[in-house]
Amino acid sequence: MSTPTGRLAPSPSGRMHPGNVFAFLMAWLSARSKNGAVILRIEDLDTVRCTEEFAELIRSDLKWLGLEWDIEAEPQRYRGAVYQEKLDRLADMGLVFPCWCTRGSLNAARAPHASDGHWIYPGTCRGLTAAQRAEKRTPPSYRLRVPDMTVSFVDGVYGERSENLARECGDFVLKKADGTFAYQLAVVVDDIEGGVTEVVRGCDLLGSAPRQIYLTKLLGGTPPEYMHVPMLLGPGGRKLSKRDLDLDLGELRKVICPERMIGELAFRGGLIDRSEPVSAKELAAEFRPEKLSKNDVELGRDFCGCLLD
Ligand code: GLU
Repeated sequence: MSTPTGRLAPSPSGRMHPGNVFAFLMAWLSARSKNGAVILRIEDLDTVRCTEEFAELIRSDLKWLGLEWDIEAEPQRYRGAVYQEKLDRLADMGLVFPCWCTRGSLNAARAPHASDGHWIYPGTCRGLTAAQRAEKRTPPSYRLRVPDMTVSFVDGVYGERSENLARECGDFVLKKADGTFAYQLAVVVDDIEGGVTEVVRGCDLLGSAPRQIYLTKLLGGTPPEYMHVPMLLGPGGRKLSKRDLDLDLGELRKVICPERMIGELAFRGGLIDRSEPVSAKELAAEFRPEKLSKNDVELGRDFCGCLLD
């Protein structure tokens, strides 16, 4: 049996908000409650929005929260050669094709959307001939050809899930036309390389799991266990954003202690019965993921106020 290994995979496009903190707390608790290892991996493929300054602030915030990691993996922006090698391997298997579709052309083709909002690719460039490809004058993206196959798995919170790759997902992008690698490829390559046995993250990524399981197997890896945790929403049910400055950790850290924040988030997520200050380490000793809410958790306007009580 391999050592249980989880990961914290922040995208440093801003300071963390309570929703990020909640997801990282759950990932950390899940690994530590099994005496497992924790990897920190900075997911900065988007080199325009992600910066080393934010990465450093996130490291500092995670330490402040008591979410220590054992190893830091190489940030994704430096791993292009590794991702390219895996892409070439998939291409050698005949599974990759260049695609010139843009958002605009998919929109015009009325391509349907999957449950998580991405396009279900209608196959436009799948069967282009070499001559048709040679006529193109712009750089393509590269997509993975998916089979008519159903991927099933059991999520630690949401239970049995399955998705037909061809009908509900479609051929998906591995490398974008601007030369950057897609999240789906990078995350799978890094999870395999890191020996990650469990992926715990926000349920906005639940729909990505079937693609990642399929890709992991193609690349010779063993898919990890998945546990998606409810999203924390802002007042009125809006999605929290790293631009919600009032809820960013830089502001919150000035006025509260980490135990207060952790206790409140664990309570809101259903993990503990009363909101009281508690450290991440203390929570790990009694982590019961079956208590987690399956519904998104709305923080409401009182959230900051109640932290200050
Ligand atoms: N980097 C992603 C995020 O910050 C998480 C990806 C993952 O956990 O697979 O939302």
